[in-house]
Amino acid sequence: MAEKTHESLAGRVLALVAGGQATTRTELGQQLGAPASSVSLAVQQLIARGLVTEEGQQSSTGGRPRKVLRVGHRDEFAVAADLGGHHARIGIVRGGGARERLSTVPLDLAAGPEACLDLLVDEFARLVDATPGKLSAAGLSLPGPVDVEAGCVDSPSRMPGWHRYPIRERLADRLGVTAAIGNDANMMAFGEDAAHQGERQYSITVKAGTAIGAGIMLDGRLYLGAGGAAGDITHVRVLAAGDIPCACGNTGCLETVASGAALQRILRESGRSVSTTEDVVALVESGDPVANQAARQAGSYLGEVLSANVNFFNPDTVLLGGILSTLEPFVAAVRGQLYKGCHPLLTRDLRIEPTSLGADAGLVGAGLQALQQSLAATLESLPRTPVAPVARLRKEVHV
Ligand SMILES: [Zn+2]
Repeated sequence: MAEKTHESLAGRVLALVAGGQATTRTELGQQLGAPASSVSLAVQQLIARGLVTEEGQQSSTGGRPRKVLRVGHRDEFAVAADLGGHHARIGIVRGGGARERLSTVPLDLAAGPEACLDLLVDEFARLVDATPGKLSAAGLSLPGPVDVEAGCVDSPSRMPGWHRYPIRERLADRLGVTAAIGNDANMMAFGEDAAHQGERQYSITVKAGTAIGAGIMLDGRLYLGAGGAAGDITHVRVLAAGDIPCACGNTGCLETVASGAALQRILRESGRSVSTTEDVVALVESGDPVANQAARQAGSYLGEVLSANVNFFNPDTVLLGGILSTLEPFVAAVRGQLYKGCHPLLTRDLRIEPTSLGADAGLVGAGLQALQQSLAATLESLPRTPVAPVARLRKEVHV
């Protein structure tokens, strides 16, 4: 039984280091709640197999050097992309979350998965050619519900032609490396968590853009729920939405009154000329009073749904991301509604903050998840390894 404990611990250690949630043995001990001796043994097992390296780093405050853990070979990297309706943010992601060679390229999701995949593979090849080191994984953040087990999106409302297309498998085949895919709000939550190693234990990250989604992090792990759809708050029904039809086929969903798509509709109905969520943002920022009021109302509806979730989950942090979260009236209304709708015990120490990686959060999360899964595959390939129980590790990092 003791061996089994150490096996699990090595897998957890690897996942935390790969995800950037812990970089020292002390942080690992804190996050895992494990004795220092057990953490050290697990780290040594991983170092012995070349999966983790440890190096000294001078502390920024001039104190004694501390040993920092990194995953595998430092020259390995992932290519990653965060797909939106009309563009993709792409770049290189390294262990720990460092990002390089970032750019935004036009990409029309409505062109279907094969055309998009062709474009992405070309862009990734360009990045790989220009980057020293070794490509070891590829990650995609997708704006729809993702069946993580199957590696595809399921019934996405804004991705025509993508339903059940084996995107993860095709991407892995084309690039010859491990591929990971995930819902954009989940990838954003994962990327943000990695950027704040160990600072947050229970967080909800909301992505408020053309649609609305949320990702839940528990102790450095993404919580996906039984069917992989945890955090999908966009189709929660709100009274004020009445019988407004939603893209999901239902009526009265939060999405119909609080999303970027809803704001476009509301502002068009009031005679404004907007055709994208970016247009909505520009109109609010220009000081248009109707647009400001609409953004405030949308934030209030989102805050209402979010406060039910905060009451239920009691997070230490709520992170607000996505393009609507750049709007002051929207964010102020979400915040106000959270304080109004939650018990003071839940909001007393609650941090409500903007995401820190901005437009790169999804890309970083996708890249880090891909790197984690590449490592899990490496572990699996080791002969009769006593290091990690592959089934458990795969489950933990299979997001
Ligand atoms: Zn809906």
